[in-house]
Amino acid sequence: PATQQLRLLRTGNATRTKFLANSPNTVLDKSILQRYRNLETPANRVQATYLWIDGTGENIRLKDRVLDKVPSSVNDLPDWQYDGSSTYQAHGENSDTTLKPRAIYRDPFKPGKNDIIVLCDTYSADGKPTPSNKRAAFQAAVDQIGDEEPWFGIEQEYTLLDVDGRPFGWPENGFPAPQGPYYCGVGADRVYARDLVEAHVVACLYAGIDFAGTNAEVMPAQWEFQIGPSGIKACDDLWVSRYILQRIAEEYGVVVTFDPKPMEGQWNGAGAHTNFSTKEMRAEGGIKAIEEAIEKLSKRHERHIKAYDPKEGKDNERRLVGRLETSSIDKFSWGVANRAVSVRVPRGVATAGKGYLEDRRPSSNCDPYAVCNAIIRTCLLNE
Ligand code: ADP
Ligand code: MN
Ligand code: MN
Ligand code: MN
Ligand code: MN
Repeated sequence: PATQQLRLLRTGNATRTKFLANSPNTVLDKSILQRYRNLETPANRVQATYLWIDGTGENIRLKDRVLDKVPSSVNDLPDWQYDGSSTYQAHGENSDTTLKPRAIYRDPFKPGKNDIIVLCDTYSADGKPTPSNKRAAFQAAVDQIGDEEPWFGIEQEYTLLDVDGRPFGWPENGFPAPQGPYYCGVGADRVYARDLVEAHVVACLYAGIDFAGTNAEVMPAQWEFQIGPSGIKACDDLWVSRYILQRIAEEYGVVVTFDPKPMEGQWNGAGAHTNFSTKEMRAEGGIKAIEEAIEKLSKRHERHIKAYDPKEGKDNERRLVGRLETSSIDKFSWGVANRAVSVRVPRGVATAGKGYLEDRRPSSNCDPYAVCNAIIRTCLLNE
């Protein structure tokens, strides 16, 4: 209470005080770190943040190490171990779990221009991928396909929360005005935390992510960004961009949730629409290949629903209700320019007779490796 009062005096604003009191990170003086960053460190020393997905299949973990040379590819990077019993990935008596570096990004948070983020996947003591390592199976599928050149473009929706779990900027008691003015909106009464969104774009571009765009979403405090289109890199990029988003939000004292239905009622849920194409679909007359893929997808609806959220469909049950721009979770459907279906063919694609399809089913907290793995196994490997 005393420190809270002090904060109140400092800010003179009760609403802001509520946020600060709830979020210890925001009251630290952010300029102190800069003093140390101005110290000269040995030129051959590189800071590397190893990033991985924990046993929940949706949360990111990281730890940092200092390398003594600048790596030119992941092959120059050492594997590393961590305590899998603390990340829901191993039991205490045999807890060493291995990180294998898979992709390198420039680190927008560390001071050195050679400092990097190393995206890893995880292996148990027996050398097998951990159950939440969905990348290994996806890589194996990619290794089996021919020259189809699959591309994925992923639309990541997310919601900003205050530390107390309430959507950011929402009144403490009651609700904002109904949905309508917020999607792609502008103005202090319509969008919250645009600064954070714009910082995220720059940090992702710096990192080397194929970042495609952003927009404010239908529910206030909900946003979207798009990644790709590219191959397996789109999935790696999505995980790293989620990490960067959460790091920036940490600085602002705001929480990011990827929960697919953060608010019950007449509020839109959050998805990760996955846009997919092959060389054939992108070429003249590609609509035929798009329709063939949709036909295959229609026969494997259950498999896809299982792969499209980390709880094998349980999370999406709350979101895919057949209302609020979603289809029913129980039934496959598709249509041109229709946003209440499982798979949409965008109007522009139907007109051009070529392009891509949009699978609207993946939830915002999906693992893109699991989603894209299911898509290519169904559409390209005919499994
Ligand atoms: P909407 O909100 O109307 O569904 P967006 O503009 O948010 O559409 O997202 C479109 C997505 O489609 C982007 O992520 C983009 O990268 C992706 N995309 C565009 N062309 C292709 C393609 N040929 N193959 C796969 N994805 C594509
Ligand atoms: Mn320790
Ligand atoms: Mn979109
Ligand atoms: Mn959207
Ligand atoms: Mn979409």
